[in-house]
Amino acid sequence: MGKLDFLKEELQALRDSGLYATMRTIQSAQGAWLVVDDVEVLNLCSNNYLGLANSPKLKERVRENMNRFGIGATGARLISGTNILHIELEQTLARFKRTQDSLLFSSGWDANIGTIPALVEQGDTVISDELNHGSVIEACRLSRGQRIVYPHRDINGLKEALEKGKDARRRLIVTDGVFSLDGDLAPLPEIVELADEYDAIVMVDDAHGEGVLGDHGRGIVDHFGLHGRVDIEMGTMSKAFGVIGGYIAGSKELIDYLRQRARTSLLASAPTLIDVAACIAAVEILEESDELVGKLWDNARYFKDGMRSLGFDIGHSETPIVPVMLGDAKVAQDFERRLFEGGVFAHAIVYPMVPIGEARIRLMVSAVHKREDLDFALTVFEKIGRETGVCAS
Ligand SMILES: *Cc1c(COP(=O)(O)O)cnc(C)c1O
Repeated sequence: MGKLDFLKEELQALRDSGLYATMRTIQSAQGAWLVVDDVEVLNLCSNNYLGLANSPKLKERVRENMNRFGIGATGARLISGTNILHIELEQTLARFKRTQDSLLFSSGWDANIGTIPALVEQGDTVISDELNHGSVIEACRLSRGQRIVYPHRDINGLKEALEKGKDARRRLIVTDGVFSLDGDLAPLPEIVELADEYDAIVMVDDAHGEGVLGDHGRGIVDHFGLHGRVDIEMGTMSKAFGVIGGYIAGSKELIDYLRQRARTSLLASAPTLIDVAACIAAVEILEESDELVGKLWDNARYFKDGMRSLGFDIGHSETPIVPVMLGDAKVAQDFERRLFEGGVFAHAIVYPMVPIGEARIRLMVSAVHKREDLDFALTVFEKIGRETGVCAS
């Protein structure tokens, strides 16, 4: 018996219950259409909201900066020094988010797990929406404070949690801005009101809000007109910005403190210089024009209307995220397979990413889809919906 033989059984159990996820191989550049496992398919599952992942402007900026600076940053910034590009990106992001400063991390995941434990210590309380992203949940677990989870978007539940945490030294409320698997929004104006009442710090994870919500895609704080009232904004460069990296935006003191104390910044090597150069170009594109954001929303509205008319249950999304609710994990995986055979690339999202019994296909509409691409997808969905009896119309 090998020591890791139990993994065979675990893997078999995942396969038996329809929870084993397979990974497809992409053989082309990112865009509306992809070559996946040797076939051309319509891409409806990337986070490339604005099509920036393969943008000529980003590629040009990478080439210029690679020639000047090379690739690796070669160490943690407080130990090996920081490149001027890191600083330029942080200033660009602060300008874009309308905050005093920002701090870069290697990923959004790193930003969350570096920040929350740095701020929530023994004697403090962190209060978190039950559907927050896994990185937020993980970050809360890593903190030494008391953790309270409140029901999804439930303001009364949040109030109860704040009551429970009333005697803590500090309270931090953390919520996703856009919930990534449902596409609904956090009730941020109400959260901010309650936070003031209970003297709680507010942190919002804006991973799916940037490039999507607000003026020029500045994110959920801008969308609700709450500049100055949300203490900590976390973001990622891996979604609408089309690159990789994460950041925290906020006050000078917050950023200064995190630079000293967030372990995923302090002890981790800095992002590569070519990634950072690409990120700067991506933010600049958004600052210059909101054309892509407009296209994204036009496409999202058109496609969601189409899916609703076909009779699909697409949940309560308020954003370009389109969850096609299917319930059973095996039904969702069968649906995924049929979609691929029909020329549409989209993934079944099953437990543990969503609760058991709430499996779905999550579709991501982007600014690079053409009307005829979306019509093609609707035709494929209509056919499979009928074949599988998921929607009767
Ligand atoms: C994707 C995502 C993250 C993680 O960001 P990465 O940059 O991909 O590590 C964090 N929070 C939310 C809500 C996300 O959707």
